[in-house]
Amino acid sequence: MEAQTKQRVTEDLGVFEELACDQNSLSHRLAIQYGVEPETFINWRWQMKHQLRTSEDFQRYCKLDPSELGSFAALKDLFNAGVTPYYAGLINEFPDQQGIRLQAIPRVEEMDDLKGLNDPLEEVAHSPVREVVHVYPDRVAFCVAMLCPVYCRYCYRKRRDDEEGLHFNRSIVDRGIAYIASNPAIKDVLITGGDPFIASDQAIDRLLARISEIPHVEIIRFGTRTPVTLPYRVTANLAKILKKYHPVWVNTHFNCTEELTPEACAAVSNLVDHGIPVGNQSVLLRGVNDSAEKMQDLCRALIRNRVRPYYVFHAHMVAGTAHLRVPISEGIAIMKSLRGNISGYGIPSYILDTPSGKVPIGHNHILGQDGHDLIVEDLRGEIWRETDAMKPMS
Ligand SMILES: *Cc1c(COP(=O)(O)O)cnc(C)c1O
Ligand code: SF4
Repeated sequence: MEAQTKQRVTEDLGVFEELACDQNSLSHRLAIQYGVEPETFINWRWQMKHQLRTSEDFQRYCKLDPSELGSFAALKDLFNAGVTPYYAGLINEFPDQQGIRLQAIPRVEEMDDLKGLNDPLEEVAHSPVREVVHVYPDRVAFCVAMLCPVYCRYCYRKRRDDEEGLHFNRSIVDRGIAYIASNPAIKDVLITGGDPFIASDQAIDRLLARISEIPHVEIIRFGTRTPVTLPYRVTANLAKILKKYHPVWVNTHFNCTEELTPEACAAVSNLVDHGIPVGNQSVLLRGVNDSAEKMQDLCRALIRNRVRPYYVFHAHMVAGTAHLRVPISEGIAIMKSLRGNISGYGIPSYILDTPSGKVPIGHNHILGQDGHDLIVEDLRGEIWRETDAMKPMS
């Protein structure tokens, strides 16, 4: 017992400790705002224990507007509010930007969505055993985690926010692993949730050991928002554990440049420095990233930090999110503006997620066919004829 306590106290927080010591760092300044020692503030378990959940919690750190204030009582039984002190701290850091607060703080508008669904991707129907979502033949999403550092207001798995007791549940994990082991077609296991990095290093290590023992599983990936919402969780030690099970890929979820703090970038570096490719999936959200300029800035900032923009999703038709959804016509124009203006590495696919899989919905450059020629719209918006491109082999 004593050894265990000691181990926890001396957990190597590396770069985060350096940041906490620097009086000008975001971590240091936020710790002072919250009235705790910087070393406490960078402890991810402290952050989880002190999630802001009630209007009183939030109002201690930022002024709520009437739509936000009224939402807490109205939404009480619909979807958890919960935000790490770190992420909530970004609201005051960027007083002119709404991106963080729109993602994190509930609003009464969530009550006005008449069309939103409970399970827009019909995941329940696609789960052969509890929490394994099997849509594509060669890969599954394995939802082992039921907790999140921040409850994103647009989350399409919000239906499960009352299942916190099932976080890393033994029987869910056992049945999921048995299912994967008995299906040789499954080559790729995406560990997700909830947020699967909200577990001890040992629990993650054990889970990876079990999955990597299955001979037909070729790659393991994680979907986690911790680099964004709780960067202190992504220690070099965690990355070292992941590295033992290579190839391990991580996809994270930045939505706006305000989220790319030095802390978040340090979390990403911990992963990439251990040979873990990091991708990003965003959701196109009203007021958060719904302009060509914001999306370009975000994608540029990601590749500067060695994060590959992977997907941008049209917001799912999930209950309570009408005020955040952007029409696809607007989304296509925003995404089209990237091509030709930023490095190809920085350009994600624009995706409509459906119960049967992800459908790419980018701008269509193909105008038609003339004889054997293909007619396309080039990047200047002019017509290009590619001679004989459609000619069958003779
Ligand atoms: C998104 C998703 C995947 C992974 O899809 P990729 O396009 O390979 O990233 C796998 N299974 C389910 C059910 C998914 O929703
Ligand atoms: S981190 Fe992911 S799973 Fe958790 S609330 Fe946000 S979108 Fe949903």
